[in-house]
Amino acid sequence: MLKRNRPARRGRSTADETELLRLAEGLSDSSGRIEDAFWESRLTQRITRLISEREEDTLNSALDAANQADGRAYEALADMIESICEATRIEVNGAQWDAVLITAPALAWSRWQIGGGSISPDTLQNLKVQLGAHVLAKGTKLALADFLFSPDQLPHGFVPTAELTQALAQAARDGKNLKLDARELPETKTFLADTRYLLGVVLAPAGAALFRWQEDDGDREEILAQWQKQGAGIMQKLLAGSTFSLSMPGSYHNAWREADRLSRGYSLQATVAYLLMTLNIEPRQLQAVIGPFHSQQLEEYRVGFTRRGDDKVLHGVVWPLLDGEDEHTDCISEIEAILKEIGITAIHVHEHDFPLDYCDDCGTPLYPNLEGELLHAEMAEEEPGAQPTMLH
Ligand SMILES: [Zn+2]
Repeated sequence: MLKRNRPARRGRSTADETELLRLAEGLSDSSGRIEDAFWESRLTQRITRLISEREEDTLNSALDAANQADGRAYEALADMIESICEATRIEVNGAQWDAVLITAPALAWSRWQIGGGSISPDTLQNLKVQLGAHVLAKGTKLALADFLFSPDQLPHGFVPTAELTQALAQAARDGKNLKLDARELPETKTFLADTRYLLGVVLAPAGAALFRWQEDDGDREEILAQWQKQGAGIMQKLLAGSTFSLSMPGSYHNAWREADRLSRGYSLQATVAYLLMTLNIEPRQLQAVIGPFHSQQLEEYRVGFTRRGDDKVLHGVVWPLLDGEDEHTDCISEIEAILKEIGITAIHVHEHDFPLDYCDDCGTPLYPNLEGELLHAEMAEEEPGAQPTMLH
């Protein structure tokens, strides 16, 4: 996964790793834009070579070392590596074009299974037309992968991401899409709420606008509204049986991170909607219990849902901390605001820390109830309309 997990392991020291760290520290201490360009061009050269040599481990150990040494150098290095993985320059009919990996995420939930997988040529073509019309700048070329990815199926690591960017860039240059072999991708785990990703590469003449919002009259809100309106009709075919919301398409890492951020609130809303529907109850009959979960440091919040006056946890939602968040980030207020907005009035926050515990049998997270017990979420089979979840 490309998520920036704060790594703890200290990597081996190699010449490349040491040099990456030196350059990243130089960049993070830089005194101005001209100096930035100096450090960035040297970092770009070295990272590009390491990616072409498939040196995933060296990149990761350099990130580990930067993380131990200096948080700002780590950020600078992570940004450089990510931007190099998702962008390249290629020649089209003798001219230089920029190529950028993009994603269009969909937040979805379903009582059954959220769709995904292979996309038919017609649907792919329709998606291309809508992205071209509403999201991309005029004069760009686009290639899409013929697959709707789940989080488990996204490229794992920097080198695979860069290779996908290359393959899609070539497809875009040739006016084609990228065919993927679905059998080579891992199976999708089933969650009540999850994210799906459309992936592609957009090409623009070097230095020209890639996205509609870079154009003089481009307006981000309008772009998102149009994509949500026009894109939804097509995505509906791929996500049949799910409720979904399209988030802003854009450069891969950025759009992916934004979808990650939005998916936390989306999961809360989805879980409440699911409980109200399957149990046929009102929001005021639900109790939400929030607790902070630690290993070495605060890792996430978990929200357990019970019926008011009952101990049994029916369902739960994990609210992971994202980049740059820690125990000083006011996630709890954000969680409470979302719950209140959907009508949950009984909200309890446990102040003490919980251990990051999971079920020994199925690995599902355990959630707090009002008494502060950590329980396995379970919907009883006799609940009308409830599917027996998490049985083993
Ligand atoms: Zn279990």
